[in-house]
Amino acid sequence: MHSRKCATTTATTTKTTSQIKWAARRRALQRRKLVGSTRTPRAAMNDDDVVEPSAGKAFSQQAMTDFCVALACRTGLLYGPPEQCTPAPTTLVPAAFPRASYERAVQLAPAMTRLADATCVDPAWLEQALAAAARADVFTDALIRVRSAAEPTRAAAAGGGGLTLGVYRSDYMVDEPTGRLLQVELNTVASSFGALSTLVSRMHAAALRFASADAEACGTLDETDDSVLPRTSDVEGWPPAPANVDAAITRHMPENGALEGIAAALAAAHVAHGRIRGTESARRHIVFVVQPGETNVHDQRLLADRLWQHHGIPVIRATLAQLARHAKSSRGSSTPSSSVPCDRLAAALRDVPDFADTADGAAKILADAGYEPGANGGRLFYRGREISVAYFRAGYTPNDYPTAVEWAGRYAIEASSAVSCPSLALQLAGTKKVQQDMADTDELRTALERKAKADGKSAREGGVEDDVASLLDAFAELCAPNTDVVARAAADPQAWVLKPQREGGGNNFYGDGLAEKLKSATAEELDAYILMERIRPASQASWMLRSARPTRVQETLQELGVYSASLTYDGQAIKDMTLDGGGELDRAVSGSALGHLLRTKAATSDEGGVAAGFSVLDSPWLE
Ligand code: ADP
Ligand code: MG
Repeated sequence: MHSRKCATTTATTTKTTSQIKWAARRRALQRRKLVGSTRTPRAAMNDDDVVEPSAGKAFSQQAMTDFCVALACRTGLLYGPPEQCTPAPTTLVPAAFPRASYERAVQLAPAMTRLADATCVDPAWLEQALAAAARADVFTDALIRVRSAAEPTRAAAAGGGGLTLGVYRSDYMVDEPTGRLLQVELNTVASSFGALSTLVSRMHAAALRFASADAEACGTLDETDDSVLPRTSDVEGWPPAPANVDAAITRHMPENGALEGIAAALAAAHVAHGRIRGTESARRHIVFVVQPGETNVHDQRLLADRLWQHHGIPVIRATLAQLARHAKSSRGSSTPSSSVPCDRLAAALRDVPDFADTADGAAKILADAGYEPGANGGRLFYRGREISVAYFRAGYTPNDYPTAVEWAGRYAIEASSAVSCPSLALQLAGTKKVQQDMADTDELRTALERKAKADGKSAREGGVEDDVASLLDAFAELCAPNTDVVARAAADPQAWVLKPQREGGGNNFYGDGLAEKLKSATAEELDAYILMERIRPASQASWMLRSARPTRVQETLQELGVYSASLTYDGQAIKDMTLDGGGELDRAVSGSALGHLLRTKAATSDEGGVAAGFSVLDSPWLE
């Protein structure tokens, strides 16, 4: 990889009218000492929404909590393992979010989707881009080796080989000093919370209707009671009056179709798999690849319910180890034709120090189960059911591969003709190192040109220059930690975030920790990290609900995610395969925004991540 100067962004810092209005509103609230107090409105309404304030009544946090908890339980807005789940951590009411930034994030979805697809078109480029990171990070190394071991079989799998579904979530924060919407990261694996975020949007809308219509019933509370949500006399129109609440919700709360959209994307992949294989077998199943002891079960089960009820597609759940032990190349019993059918897997794992000793054993487990890479057209069966799509909600962290057996499970899918969501290449394309590479204008342009070419288009037809401009506009400064940048970051550690090649939250370094890490790590170790400009979102007060209990009001920051999906065959967008005549399935994999996730975390917390325990689920109230 040639050395490059750290990317500089070309974006303007001009604020849009709506952002200025939003900032002005916050300043006005600050003057009125509403921001940061226990009476801060999170989503103050515009004056023109106000028809009738709801009689100046306050409504209590407890009444709202009771309403939200009951609704969460009834709708499946739940978190935790089945035996001890509780309402998912959420806020009680939506958060103010600048409309222009939200709309920008939605508009960016097709370009972000093309970018994610572009970075996995050429695995040789990907391996080269990640070579230094792989030397420093055993997990990246293992992902690359197992991908490469599976590649020949994946490519050769008759019909259906090389089908990849990407379900993406591009995460953003609004940088308050510049007013810019900046990308935090682009998730290409296990982009979770689509289902729960959809339910949160609906819960918030219902809670606002409840609060508006029933302010009286909720009780008029003691002025000095800081558990009381704001009175309408504090902020005009909050909560909305019954007469105009529906209009206000329609105007300020964007529809969230993430649950339906992601399910439709998975259904599209299932249908494409059937078409390419020439089978409509009702016995094909989608497998959700999950962690043992999974805590985000309901987010997944809601998707599975939707797939079954709306699309008629059955879903089974399996861990990577279960897949390794029960994967077969055909429905019935079969004996692999070669004595070492998974020799490429064994060879790949032997090169990864952590798994060298158990490599042959893991390959043998697959062979004993009856799995032979490429046999029977690459078909994959799990406990007697043919797998159409493997949807990974696990496999993104080294913790998911405690032994070589889990790698065997991953390999069995990657080397088969089942649709991988994502393939190993697409997972690697979502790593922090690749994100940093793509912030370099030349690298970005080259990747997008490669993608246009794979789709049989010229750069012009593929809209490459437009994509380059709009993507760079959304990128913060991203750098490889080379000497110059390390010196800059060490001199001003509060202005940067140091990120390793990891997913799932809780891994980054900030402030003093960052300075310390930069001092102690060798240059080689830092090859597995990127330095990213720190984004500074505005704060606002929030009421959170954790384990069915309200927390004290606190200052919080928001992170917006936008979901999108694409279906590719050996890197090309699926063409000439109208999945449902331009309907729901085609739209789901068109790359456009499917829905959104708003996460809220304490302003004092550096990290995000609901699963990691830092954030709660929220919804945007656009201003
Ligand atoms: P992960 O793959 O672990 O989710 P992220 O890049 O999303 O990695 O970082 C985790 C969290 O750290 C984010 O949700 C966000 O809250 C915070 N974060 C990440 N990058 C930045 C940044 N550049 N500026 C400010 N906060 C950041
Ligand atoms: Mg993240």
